Amino acid sequence: MKLQYSLILIFTGLMALILLGINLVMYSMSSGYRQYNFFLSLENSSTIVASAVLQQEKAEDYYAVKNSILQHLADEEEYILRINKDRSNIEFPASLPLNEAFYWEAIRNGIAKHYENGVHYVGLYKEHAAGEDGILVVSSARDVDGDAYRKRLKTTLALAFLAAVFVMTLTTVFFSKRMFGPMVKIIKKVNSINAFNLNDRLEKEHSLEEIGELQDTLNGMLQRIETAFKAQQDYVSNISHSLRTPLTIIAGEAEIALSQLEKEHKATYSLQMIMQETEKLKHIINVLLELARSENNTQANAWRVLRLDEVLESVKEIIYKMDSRYKLKIDFSNFPENDSMLYVSCNEHLLSLAICNIILNGFKYSDNQDVRLKLHAADNEVKLQVIDSGIGIAPSEQDKIFNPYYRGSNTFDYEGFGVGLPLAMKILEMHKGTIRVSSKVGKGTKMEVVLPAAYAQQHV
Ligand code: ADP
Repeated sequence: MKLQYSLILIFTGLMALILLGINLVMYSMSSGYRQYNFFLSLENSSTIVASAVLQQEKAEDYYAVKNSILQHLADEEEYILRINKDRSNIEFPASLPLNEAFYWEAIRNGIAKHYENGVHYVGLYKEHAAGEDGILVVSSARDVDGDAYRKRLKTTLALAFLAAVFVMTLTTVFFSKRMFGPMVKIIKKVNSINAFNLNDRLEKEHSLEEIGELQDTLNGMLQRIETAFKAQQDYVSNISHSLRTPLTIIAGEAEIALSQLEKEHKATYSLQMIMQETEKLKHIINVLLELARSENNTQANAWRVLRLDEVLESVKEIIYKMDSRYKLKIDFSNFPENDSMLYVSCNEHLLSLAICNIILNGFKYSDNQDVRLKLHAADNEVKLQVIDSGIGIAPSEQDKIFNPYYRGSNTFDYEGFGVGLPLAMKILEMHKGTIRVSSKVGKGTKMEVVLPAAYAQQHV
């Protein structure tokens, strides 16, 4: 469970328990005090009745006092039992729900109290004179006001408890959001940073000092990583530049040599291989160079509006130069009737590089089987599907393959660095396009490149 939710649960649970305890103590104290007072009234009433019975001549006065001073108790009843001094032959009233222990307690201690089914009982024992016969007055009554008071108290305490728990939960949620909100933002942001946006930084939050310190620390770390990464990129970029010229010369010289030889000459095959391998090397170097370049380096004047099928023709040429066995099949079944729907605004060099990477993967991971291309234009989008019948990509890995340096778990037998697709994705994002993948392990892969059509703006 997330720390935020467990904190909310623990805090509100604990506070609810404490509140419940306080409420229970308040209820039992208040109710106990009320009951104590009621027993006192009943005891007073019993005392007057006992005095009236013991002093018959003043009985009227006692009853007058009882009626005028003592409050009238609901359902009040009195039972008078005569107890002889040897306390034998006592007949306790069977109509009362009291057991004998109650009567004996009253006789022994002078008083006994009992509460049952909403009725209070007080037993009061008085003797004519010490060691003489005595009387036991048992008074019973209902505390109607007390019961109503207890009911009201219960409802009030329960409502107050619910309201307090509700307010406490809201407050805890509010404060936990304030505390953990910035943390969630930081996690999201840090997760979104990769080799292509290392210059991104966390925005400074001023809510909590510790969170601010954490952000400063992470930003400092990103800065150090970016500096180290930049130094590496510069190194790769310089080497790639230095390699490009000799490679172009090798390819050019091989081509000249090839043109001067008879077709059947023994060296023809070797020269063809030199040219193919040089083309592959040039492609790898181009990928490395573009990886090392930042987005801002892309020259604005290199952008043009071109037909995607024409871009594909140059891609086909590059690929064919790399290996004449590569068979690219273009499927025209979905080709739009109106050619102008195929226009896209692009940097031809970069877009070709991205599409090349995707197609070369199709050949690589299908052991050079045919790769099919399908071109389709609709809804202001131009779509290119690259379909192979290769090893496929496991569902759990399909969203990871666009992360830099990630390689599928089934690619041990294939050479690669895990940079071709991330670079293709980056280039397509620069074109405001995207790439989707659908694949079945052992059956093949379909990569779909989607680009916004330039037709709407350029050719209306
Ligand atoms: P590389 O091919 O050099 O490993 P990429 O960035 O081009 O790096 O591709 C990343 C990963 O995506 C590959 O390692 C592979 O697992 C998977 N992948 C890409 N294209 C295909 C494909 N056509 N068929 C199967 N797996 C593919």
